[in-house]
Amino acid sequence: MWSADEVAGLCYTHYSTKLPKQGKPDPNREWTLLAAVVKVESAPEREACLNVGNLQVTKEVVAMGTGTKCIGHTRMRKTGDILNDSHAEVIAKRSFQRYLVHQLWLAASHQQGSIFSPGTEIGKWKLKPHITFIFFCSHTPCGDASIIPMTKPEDQPCELVSRKDPTRHSADCSGNHDPVGPENKRKTEETASDYVTKRMKTVISDSTCEVTERIAAQYVPGNQQNIQDTNTSRSEFITDGQREILTCAKETGLIGAKVMDVYRTGAKCVLGERDDARRPGVEYHHVGLLRVKPGRGDRTCSMSCSDKLARWNVLGCQGALLMHFLQHPVYFSAVVVGKCPYSQEVMRRAVIERCQHISFLPDGFHVQEVKMLQSNLQFKHSRHAIQTGHANGKAKLVPCGAAISWSAVPEQPLDVTSNGFKQGTTKKGIGSHQTREKKLETYWEYKEAAANYQEAWKVLRSQALGAWVKNTKDYLQFT
Ligand SMILES: [Zn+2]
Repeated sequence: MWSADEVAGLCYTHYSTKLPKQGKPDPNREWTLLAAVVKVESAPEREACLNVGNLQVTKEVVAMGTGTKCIGHTRMRKTGDILNDSHAEVIAKRSFQRYLVHQLWLAASHQQGSIFSPGTEIGKWKLKPHITFIFFCSHTPCGDASIIPMTKPEDQPCELVSRKDPTRHSADCSGNHDPVGPENKRKTEETASDYVTKRMKTVISDSTCEVTERIAAQYVPGNQQNIQDTNTSRSEFITDGQREILTCAKETGLIGAKVMDVYRTGAKCVLGERDDARRPGVEYHHVGLLRVKPGRGDRTCSMSCSDKLARWNVLGCQGALLMHFLQHPVYFSAVVVGKCPYSQEVMRRAVIERCQHISFLPDGFHVQEVKMLQSNLQFKHSRHAIQTGHANGKAKLVPCGAAISWSAVPEQPLDVTSNGFKQGTTKKGIGSHQTREKKLETYWEYKEAAANYQEAWKVLRSQALGAWVKNTKDYLQFT
């Protein structure tokens, strides 16, 4: 019905032809991230019968987002006029919600062509059965999904950590939450790209790697017991961090290959929870943890994109507000990632497996078995593409500060923000909301009133995502 390359190609073309220049990176010095939602619609059975042998399937980009930034805690505002999280995935999801609102309006006003039909409960709508949505991102999402085993040292875009650098090691373990170091902060700040920093040094003969290889070689793929036995008998050699990576390597089919290191994420573990070991090589991260996005200077209060995808995979991507009008949550049926470091198994762990055990969700909510696929097509404005486009490969590149949101809606489909603020909008304009004449007034009240959604979220938090950073009510009291 569709292929990963087809979805990626469709999104890249949409980016090139439908998005304005304003908000796109300057390819001489900037890069960005892209995410989108693609609607896949197969013709209803009746029509399909009329076109025997020619099953009509249409694919259409209905929402798109670009962006790399996430604001720190101290820059958050209680007036609802700044976007905290402008990573492409989150912008695209918000654009998709605008699209859903428009589609609900079409259905409610009895117009043709809505994706929704009346539900069995009055005032609620359901998605037509032959429509599904694919989530596309040009890169592996930040956070847990980005901690990918690496088999060759040259895979690491930067260099490996040296155990032989005592200063580095002690700084890593001292509780300083900036493993990158202040001088490199600007390079990784607020970006979703999750690679190691230049301060790290190469030591391929690091004993950690040798132990890893030795133990890894003893695995028999497909024999779960084998790894546990191995780990137990060799516990003097293996730490928790290594065990996690080994499990992952086994699942990834890397056993036999040399697991030299892991790709790193700039997303930091949630405070008060288990933290990364930040040891050299494969032991740098712990996996399966909730993380907040990296920010400039201060911590952000925005969860990593891996965590958000895991949440959407249980609660749906419509959010709390739209659940007032929907009979069922709207889920993505597949996630397609563009050409970049990627692991199917790590994606599964981050997005599905962390929540797979939960039970007692309200009616209609389920942990989805979302499909994961990677495309071979690279985004032209990705960091890697921009970097390789420069002859010497050493140009100083920065993440683009602007974020573009696009929705398939007739009115104002585009919205460009810069570092979280709307471009070209005065503060006066932002504050001039109409007073609502309903009982519910604030954004927080509307969200809270979506009973089944809040119940599902409570269940999910209590059983799987307990450390999720909850922003205080103050930040949601705008109208
Ligand atoms: Zn992200």
